[in-house]
Amino acid sequence: MEIIHISAECYPAAKVGGLADVVGALPKYQNKTGHIAKVVIPAYDTKFIRESEFEVTYDAWSNYGNNHFKYRVLKEKTNKLGFDLYLVHIQGLTDRPNVYGYEDDTERFVAFQIATLDWIAQWEHRPDIVHCHDHHTGLVPFMVSNCLKYQAISKVPTVLTIHNAQYQGQFGWNKLYYLPAFDLWKGGLLGWEDAINPLASAIKCAWRVTTVSPSYMEEMMYNARGLESLLREERWKSVGILNGIDTEVWNPETDPMLSKNYNLKTLESGKTANKKALCDVFQLDSSKPLFTFIGRLVDEKGADLLPDIFYTALQQHGDDINILILGSGDTWVEGRLNQIKDYYSGKYNAYIGYNEQVSHEMYAGADFLLMPSRVEPCGLNQLYALRYGTVPVVRRVGGLRDTVIDIGDGGFGICHDQTSVWDVTQAISRALALYKDKKAFKAVRKTMMKIDHSWDQAAKNYIELYQILK
Ligand code: ADP
Repeated sequence: MEIIHISAECYPAAKVGGLADVVGALPKYQNKTGHIAKVVIPAYDTKFIRESEFEVTYDAWSNYGNNHFKYRVLKEKTNKLGFDLYLVHIQGLTDRPNVYGYEDDTERFVAFQIATLDWIAQWEHRPDIVHCHDHHTGLVPFMVSNCLKYQAISKVPTVLTIHNAQYQGQFGWNKLYYLPAFDLWKGGLLGWEDAINPLASAIKCAWRVTTVSPSYMEEMMYNARGLESLLREERWKSVGILNGIDTEVWNPETDPMLSKNYNLKTLESGKTANKKALCDVFQLDSSKPLFTFIGRLVDEKGADLLPDIFYTALQQHGDDINILILGSGDTWVEGRLNQIKDYYSGKYNAYIGYNEQVSHEMYAGADFLLMPSRVEPCGLNQLYALRYGTVPVVRRVGGLRDTVIDIGDGGFGICHDQTSVWDVTQAISRALALYKDKKAFKAVRKTMMKIDHSWDQAAKNYIELYQILK
């Protein structure tokens, strides 16, 4: 089968969060199963894209409404990613340093989707599956099935994966004319409540809907920012498939970003060396347990509570713990997290920003990774933590529920029920007790590192799903 993934992010070309990690790994593992999976994303102005070699494979004009644009499809030349990566370059729209966050994001992603489908529709052959991801490519299923311009591919099955239902990409009906012509009575397939809603439209129009963990699929039925009833309606075609991780990129034995590589046998010395290097850089005490947080500083991740959680934990256990955080997002949270440094220097530090290298160093050097998320569709951080022998301390929600088993239940992590200062600080106390029991701590680390969360299984599950549609 030939599968084309259409996405806003793909690691390492453009990454904001987990979407990039998934779209940068799943196709690679699908190719390993003997199928052909390709990826297409917008041509942003990122370091990777500037520094890689591309060849032009297609050049044409298109339009959204009255806005005509010239676009160009570029193909990565070296095949170093394990799949063919295509970029759609639209001058003035895609070529910007950030993936999101511009006032004209609607226009940028509408133009990207139209250009991509124009390009695919004129291929000599039809792909077997068009797989879109999240709301940025959510108009694809509607356009493939309904826009007259895309008749050549109208019978190609479309699949939507929801990586996060909190973001839906709504825009006003006054922009309906952006879309290529279709029978107007089908317009209802685009809307939800009072707006055009690309995520809702994809849920209605895609042949199958997946999300990134079985628990999140269940949770969305009663918590999906207004889409609950629609998701219940379309339940028959929906399934939760747990994400994997790219075990080639995330491998402590070969990871070039670490101070010292390690494996199951050298786990203790490897973790100690990485922790020491990390603590030296961030002026922390490597003889004490190191708690970390990595992620977007948004309410979904429980970031608004982090300052109070840290103040409380530092007051309770100030002489026994270190805390290091890496993240960016809500400026109010960023400010408060920076402030803690003034009171607890030597025990606490924060790197406000995005840094892939530091994230790898932290997964390797930390003892514990905190994830007090309110919503967590799958969560990749805890899977990286497990692979690097770092104990996850997580709220029982979404994919965290599906991947972390509490030590009290014979597992390897520490789980709590609520996103609250009380629950997380209690969990930190339990983590400290585990840390002090050296034998148990070592055993837990070993168990975690042995767990297989590679994409092999999930890639097979997606292929089985596509096969039903063929
Ligand atoms: P989400 O997609 O909701 O942000 P995930 O857990 O699915 O959450 O994926 C987060 C990914 O982004 C992980 O690879 C994590 O290491 C990375 N990440 C998040 N914030 C940062 C940051 N500030 N610096 C480096 N990497 C980060």
